[in-house]
Amino acid sequence: MHKYVHHKTDGRQLFLYGHKPNKLTPLPDAEQGVAQGSHARWHPLRREWVVYAVHRQTRTFLPPKEFCPLCPSRPDGLPTDIPFENFEIAVFQNRWPSLSPRAGEAPRDLPVLTREANGDCEVVVFTPEHNGSLGTISQERRELLVRVWADRYQELYSRPEIQYVMPFENRGELIGVTMHHPHGQIYAYPFVPPVAEREAGSFRESPALLNLLASAKSYTVLEDQHCLAMIPPFARFPYEVLVYPKKFHPGPWAFSDDEVKSFAFMLGEVVRRYDKLFEQPFPYILLLHAAPKGEEARFHFHAEFNAYLRTKDKLKYLAGTEVGAGTFVVDALPEETAKVLREVRP
Ligand SMILES: [Zn+2]
Repeated sequence: MHKYVHHKTDGRQLFLYGHKPNKLTPLPDAEQGVAQGSHARWHPLRREWVVYAVHRQTRTFLPPKEFCPLCPSRPDGLPTDIPFENFEIAVFQNRWPSLSPRAGEAPRDLPVLTREANGDCEVVVFTPEHNGSLGTISQERRELLVRVWADRYQELYSRPEIQYVMPFENRGELIGVTMHHPHGQIYAYPFVPPVAEREAGSFRESPALLNLLASAKSYTVLEDQHCLAMIPPFARFPYEVLVYPKKFHPGPWAFSDDEVKSFAFMLGEVVRRYDKLFEQPFPYILLLHAAPKGEEARFHFHAEFNAYLRTKDKLKYLAGTEVGAGTFVVDALPEETAKVLREVRP
């Protein structure tokens, strides 16, 4: 994998990753300016940090195709966020970061504990093509994406202030996606957020995902020698899928080449089956959960698809019990939905 580092005129970094080295010269950058100023406040009842990034109100909302900031730039067009005429995978620091090395100091005169939001937020563009999905890009490109995630994990975790790194993809207007170009994001937090903390606590007690392997059969959607995709027996969404390596690894940086291939294939195949299932692009949130800093010995890396459709025309809304109590109520059994997704042929 080749990595080319470009410094944008507004101070942000941009990385071009590829099977081939980048030989294109950069076009002029857009003079945009980066939004600054965010901080975190402690929520004493929930015992978690809340990040305030008020500058985000002005961010790009469903731009028309000709102004897509994630498409390659053209010498005769408006500069996009990527000042190159082509690329394989591009990663750059978000223009509206919630967490940033330039976040600034937190206010001190508040009635609650505050702290700097000094992490980072990156955008990962999966392809130069404006249309497509994790399911339709080539297997070669998906494998490159897994290696890009691994490299971002390692680079971000090498910074002393970063405690947790989470790549994710929000997909679908129904769940608030503001740009359609196939892309994901990476948040790098200066603290361990509550979900990661709970998962780390679980892995300190037992290898929950290895324990599941023995009884996975009726929950399995896809399987090979290296990885497993299942609707877990405890799924909180009817079509929630968990994808993970059968061998213990704290993150994709520890994958063998075969594991990269297998994991990449399964992510793509899950999306293709989702889209086939109800004959429409399936809205989901894909989360990669690797070990928080210091938890590498026990934390088993996994990817989760939080899948927001219950049926062809019914969205799973998070309502009273889910939001207020944290207790999910699901109207379909995982062993039944797993059978459905196992038999879908995209
Ligand atoms: Zn685009």
